[in-house]
Amino acid sequence: MDTASPYLLTPGPLTTSDTVKQAMLRDWGSRDATFIAMNHEMRERLTDLVGASATHVCVPLQGSGTFAIEATISTLLPPSGHLLVLVNGAYGTRMVKIARVMGRKVSSLEWREDEQVDPASLDQRLSDDASITHVAVVHCETTSGILNPIDDVARVTTSHGRALIIDAMSTFGALALDARRIDFTAVVASSNKCLEGVPGVGFAILHRDTLETCTGNAHSLSLDLFDQWRGFETNGQWRFTPPTHVVAAFCQALDEHAKEGGVAARGARYATNHQILVDGMEELGFRCLLPREVQAPIIVTFLEPADAHYKFEEFYERLRDHGFLIYPGKLTVADSFRIGCIGHLGEEQMRDAVEAVRAVVQEMGVANCGPSRIGR
Ligand SMILES: *Cc1c(COP(=O)(O)O)cnc(C)c1O
Repeated sequence: MDTASPYLLTPGPLTTSDTVKQAMLRDWGSRDATFIAMNHEMRERLTDLVGASATHVCVPLQGSGTFAIEATISTLLPPSGHLLVLVNGAYGTRMVKIARVMGRKVSSLEWREDEQVDPASLDQRLSDDASITHVAVVHCETTSGILNPIDDVARVTTSHGRALIIDAMSTFGALALDARRIDFTAVVASSNKCLEGVPGVGFAILHRDTLETCTGNAHSLSLDLFDQWRGFETNGQWRFTPPTHVVAAFCQALDEHAKEGGVAARGARYATNHQILVDGMEELGFRCLLPREVQAPIIVTFLEPADAHYKFEEFYERLRDHGFLIYPGKLTVADSFRIGCIGHLGEEQMRDAVEAVRAVVQEMGVANCGPSRIGR
C-alpha cells in the first residue's frame, strides 16, 4: 500500500502508517458503546500528552485544525474580550482574521517571518493595554518552521493575569508542552500532524474551570466548544455526526505514538529526520532560511536557487515523480520552498528524499543550488 502513496513532505496532511489506514476499514455507529469508549480514551490520552489531566479537558471538533482554532477563540473570548495575537507568519495572521470575522476585538504584535516573537515586547504591550484579555501564539510557525519561545510567552502572559491560547498544531505530540510547567488556557491541535492520524478532527485542551464560565460566548452553534464539551460530558457523544473513521484511525495513531515512546521518541525521530534533510540539502548547495537555533525539527524552509534552470513547478513535479511531495514557500521575505520532516517517515525516507532532490536538480541542469543572497 505504501508504495502506491507518495511520501508527503509537507505541513499536512502527512504520511500515515498502513495500520492507521487499515483502522478505517469498518463502520461504527455513533451511539455504539465501543465508539463512545474510543472517544473517551482519545480525549483522555490527548489531555495526558500535555500533562493536563488534573486541570484541563479535551474537546474534539469535526473539521481541520483551523476549525478548532476558530472554535477555541469563539468559545473562550467573551463578546467584550480583546485578543492580542503574536504574529510571525501566516497562522498568526489567520488567527487575527478569525477574530475579526467573528467581530471580536483583536490586535496584533508583528515580527518578520524569520524572527521569533519577543516576550519583552509582549510584556510592554500588556502593561500598556489593560483591555487585552487573551493572548494567542503559534508554537511552531509552520509558515517558516520557526520555533517560538513558548515558555517565556506563557510566563509573561500569566504574570499579567491574561489567558493564553497556543496554536500547537504542528508540534503537539512531538515537542514537549506540559501544563504543569506552562500555564495555558488552551492548546489547539489536530489529528493529522505530529500525531500521524488522518485529517478530519481538531481538538482543544481547555482549562476546565475557565471553560465552565464560557457558556454563551460562542458566535456559532457548531463551533461552540462549551456546548460540544457538555455533549461529551452528558452522554459521551459528539453533538453532530462524528467523523467515525477518522476517530478510529486517530486511536490507532495514538497507540502507535505511545508504542514508539511518546512525545520524546516522536520528537527524536523528527529531529533525526531534520538533521539528515538539512545536512543533505546543504551538501547539495541549498541554504536554509532560518538559523539553526530557531529552527524547529518540523518543516524546513529552503531558499530557492538563483540558477536560471530552476523553476519551482518543474522541481515539484519531478520530485513527485520520484515519490515525494514538497510544498511551496509561504513567505513574504524570500522566494522559498518547504520540506517537512514529520509524518510516518524515518531516516531511510529522508535519505531517499535528499537523493531524489540530487537527481532532480541534475535532470533540470541546475548547477548551483545556492540562492542569490543568504536570506537573513
Ligand atoms: C496546519 C496548521 C494549522 C491548521 O491548518 P488546517 O489546514 O486547518 O488543518 C494551524 N496552525 C498551524 C501552526 C498549522 O501548522
